Amino acid sequence: MDKSVAIIGGGPAGLMAADVISAQGIRVDVYDSMPSVGRKFLMAGKSGLNITHSEPFEQFIARYGNRRAQIEQLLRAFGPDALRQWVHGLGIETFVGTSGRVFPVGMKASPLLRAWLKRLGEASVKVHLRHKWLGWNEDQSLKFSTPDGEKNIRADATVLALGGGSWSRLGSDGAWVPWLEQAGAKVEALKPSNCGFDVNWSPHFRERFEGHPIKSVVLSFGSFHQQGEFIVTKEGVEGSLIYAASALIRDEIYANGNAVISLDMAPNRSLDWLTEKLSKPRGSRSIASHIERMVGIKGVKAGLMREFVSKEKFASSEQLAYSIKNLQISLIAPRPLDEAISSAGGVTFESLDENLMLRAMPGIFCAGEMLDWEAPTGGYLLTACFASGYVAGHGVLKWIMNLVDS
Ligand SMILES: Cc1cc2nc3c(=O)[nH]c(=O)nc-3n(C[C@H](O)[C@H](O)[C@H](O)COP(=O)(O)OP(=O)(O)OC[C@H]3O[C@@H](n4cnc5c(N)ncnc54)[C@H](O)[C@@H]3O)c2cc1C
Repeated sequence: MDKSVAIIGGGPAGLMAADVISAQGIRVDVYDSMPSVGRKFLMAGKSGLNITHSEPFEQFIARYGNRRAQIEQLLRAFGPDALRQWVHGLGIETFVGTSGRVFPVGMKASPLLRAWLKRLGEASVKVHLRHKWLGWNEDQSLKFSTPDGEKNIRADATVLALGGGSWSRLGSDGAWVPWLEQAGAKVEALKPSNCGFDVNWSPHFRERFEGHPIKSVVLSFGSFHQQGEFIVTKEGVEGSLIYAASALIRDEIYANGNAVISLDMAPNRSLDWLTEKLSKPRGSRSIASHIERMVGIKGVKAGLMREFVSKEKFASSEQLAYSIKNLQISLIAPRPLDEAISSAGGVTFESLDENLMLRAMPGIFCAGEMLDWEAPTGGYLLTACFASGYVAGHGVLKWIMNLVDS
């Protein structure tokens, strides 16, 4: 068929669209600004590529919060099971970890990406590296800056899979936002998701505890209650437990200027047990060693208590016990978007039809993290990126068939 498709962005979403379209014998050109494709995907594999999750579908789609309905449409076309089958089709087995998370055997992204690029090459997909898309020309052709100067390219259909705005050194920098807005799409501002937060640590606490993990605590914030761990950073806090609550915390900070989380630092101990233990005579022991000896709170957890609990409360065993179960920490700002694991915001679903084609620009499709949704870590990000690439790829096929028929 003499039709051609341009895919801009060689991350999981763009490459999935390329896979779907090239499998039908249509010419696909993938353009990426970086010297190689899939850099964020490879980074995601550095600490174990959590590609999807094995929990029941109903639970799975609930992870997408108020975009659940839109993402469900995509996952009905290409869900977690289909994704695992697809990985197996590339010759890579997957396994379910103890938490229900799904990983490729070997945990890394690179063997998968290698096998995938080989298959795309065999399907004659051409990858054009160091091609930075700069928007559209007046005649609607695609404008690229390349090492050989500016190039203008025409295609019968285009998939934009440009990623969000975090970790810009890996390629996705969110520069596309104004171009899409000028083209008539509604784009929600990109915001950090799965991000850390700033805390006003005292210089002493920061110096003493930066880098320390805080393990086995329950974090409560509004409707969120979860046990886990996080890390003290120079600026504040980060890590899996914080990321899991980050959307709620971020929105509260945007609305009210700060967000107060509550930590249960001894989730396996009752308030009564703690009170009784702490009321035992401490003799000549310091309060710190009394707390350590009686209830086992020490190190960074004891440091947090000193940081946020008043002297008066330290003097009362009831109030001290209560503070151990409900330590209040004020988070004052999300860390910058560039540091976040992912982005919230992006091209709104109202701007797209059910094939992920821009209503304002027929023939232009969008996929991946650049769409307006967010999800916690746990494989939900990649699953929705793959699914949207799959749906956009099929949308392109329908579009091309219509062009051929008309
Ligand atoms: C440290 C880290 C760990 C992660 N771990 C996991 C995990 O374990 N599980 C999980 O589900 N998710 C994880 N994620 C998130 C996941 O990697 C992303 O959600 C996913 O890669 C997004 O895919 P995408 O195709 O939409 O965009 P991207 O992967 O960001 O790809 C976009 C591509 O577009 C290119 N591009 C952007 N702008 C232009 C332009 N103007 N011109 C040309 N090319 C352009 C970029 O160079 C890039 O190659 C992790 C992310 C990070 C940062």
